[in-house]
Amino acid sequence: MAKVNKKYEIWFLTGSQNLYGEETLKQVAEQSKLVLEQLQKNVSAPVDLVWKPVLKTPDAIRRQMLDASADDNCVGVITWMHTFSPAKMWIAGLDALQKPLLHLHTQANQSLPWATIDMDFMNLNQAAHGDREYAHMVSRMSIARKVVVGEPASKTVGSHVTAWAYATIGWNTSQNLKLARFGDNMRYVSVTDGDKVSAQMQFGMSIEQFGVNTLVDAVAKVSDSAAEALCEVYERDYDVVAELRKNGARHESLVYGAKIEIALRSILEAGDFNAFTSNFEDLGELRQLPGLAVQRLMADGYGFGGEGDWKTSALGAILKSMTPTGGGTSFMEDYTYHFGPGPALVLGAHMLEVCPTISGQKPRIEIHPLGIGGKEDPVRMVFTAKPAEGRVVCLVDLGDRFRMISNEIEIVDPTEDLPNLPVARAVWKPQPSLETSAEAWMLAGGSHHTVLTNSVTAEAIEDFARIAKVELVAIDESTEMRAFRKELQWSAAYHRLAERL
Ligand code: MN
Repeated sequence: MAKVNKKYEIWFLTGSQNLYGEETLKQVAEQSKLVLEQLQKNVSAPVDLVWKPVLKTPDAIRRQMLDASADDNCVGVITWMHTFSPAKMWIAGLDALQKPLLHLHTQANQSLPWATIDMDFMNLNQAAHGDREYAHMVSRMSIARKVVVGEPASKTVGSHVTAWAYATIGWNTSQNLKLARFGDNMRYVSVTDGDKVSAQMQFGMSIEQFGVNTLVDAVAKVSDSAAEALCEVYERDYDVVAELRKNGARHESLVYGAKIEIALRSILEAGDFNAFTSNFEDLGELRQLPGLAVQRLMADGYGFGGEGDWKTSALGAILKSMTPTGGGTSFMEDYTYHFGPGPALVLGAHMLEVCPTISGQKPRIEIHPLGIGGKEDPVRMVFTAKPAEGRVVCLVDLGDRFRMISNEIEIVDPTEDLPNLPVARAVWKPQPSLETSAEAWMLAGGSHHTVLTNSVTAEAIEDFARIAKVELVAIDESTEMRAFRKELQWSAAYHRLAERL
């Protein structure tokens, strides 16, 4: 996949100035290293926080920002004004910075040494006003950033920085994202379509279309022995139903499913893609709609969207790269409702393509007919998502801009068994209630396709939206419709009048 599994760095920049003299600046450097050390202990994202020498002049600041912007490993920059660093010194550097910015407002000491404090101490620990001078300039330059306030060893500070660090990884994914579409958009469908040029300008993602024959030809070239070898992996890692197992009556269907996986994977790897789409209306000579293959590729971090839905696929790849190890993130669709008795619930699923990273048990590989598409019965993994707090997120194109919408959900065990449902599924209780959630979601123009995650935090998603300069509409336990309608109106005005702020 394109540049997803590399080593990520976040650079830690400390501001000061030469006025303080060598002795004090030495202390500044030592304390700054110590602050970073303490911060590091509570940052759990897979990034290296890299200390850089204290910045004291406009030239050094500009050079550091240019270097950060040019370095492919650097996904973000944290700044902290340990002492007073006059902010005109930062204008050229901030102007040059092309990476996400976090302003850490902290100081080296937690408590004031009341009994011994003197003017030397006061002059060394000046972030309280140094950071305000700096922040004024960042605001004046309208630079999007996250501000985190607190002592460096604080767990809260660490968790805010962690959320942002994951967002910088997501942004790096977005900037390098390559998506392969097999077939175009499902005929007549609106929300899955959109402006791919605008998406590339805003998010960096490149969305490219392939005729489905590219995949058909690649499947035809996969050898039986390679497919049989993959079937052995399936039998080892999943509960494969008897009819699909080696020597089972329908084993050949599993072999064909394995060929689709091998072919898809090789095309994606050769082209450095990290996301893809399919369209059941456009399968050419493919004998099955890709199901198991898509599920397995999603589990390996690939984004996916059905029916040509490149926006959900891209968002899936982004959120997967922001998913902590052991967490789950999947393509999802609001499928059908349970209005009661008991709490109102959403049953989410898709025709086949739900990612097993959200599963609560070992998936079963089964084969069943598919009501639409007119193809052979496709093989697929069947499982139920494990209970967890989570959220569903979508990205829609409103014509004049993109909008992200997220809804906090509680994934729950299904109220009863589902013996006749032949697809993977998730059952959830949306916040604040199904009624308000669905009303708000639809007023905001949200998609029926989403990315469901049980571990990318709401804060990380919010940080990502700020970095991407994309509108985010959040629906959660505090959503109340009268205020929500007004928020949409204000937000529309804001984004039309001042979209770059
Ligand atoms: Mn769909």
